[in-house]
Amino acid sequence: MAKVKSGDTVLITNGREKGKQGKVSRVIPKEQRIVVEGVNLVRRHTKPRGQARRGGIIDKEAPLHISNAMVICPNCGRPTRIGYFIDDQGRKSRQCKKCEGVFD
Ligand SMILES: [Zn+2]
Repeated sequence: MAKVKSGDTVLITNGREKGKQGKVSRVIPKEQRIVVEGVNLVRRHTKPRGQARRGGIIDKEAPLHISNAMVICPNCGRPTRIGYFIDDQGRKSRQCKKCEGVFD
């Protein structure tokens, strides 16, 4: 189970995007990287393809390393470290280390 999932809101804690918040749109577990909406934008130059599409410049989110972001707890709204909570049935959930709230 990944500690960060798509749909989570994260706070960027390091690097040039420090202090920004955004929603995780993609997780790349193999590289321990996440893509966050509106964060870490890079400029891509696209070439015209065919006749219908024009080339141009688009801004695209570049993946950033998981260690540069903290999940914002949906219960208490604070950036937090995530632990795991295992219930009576052995189901594993994520747990906020600050408020101890449990979420998926
Ligand atoms: Zn919390």
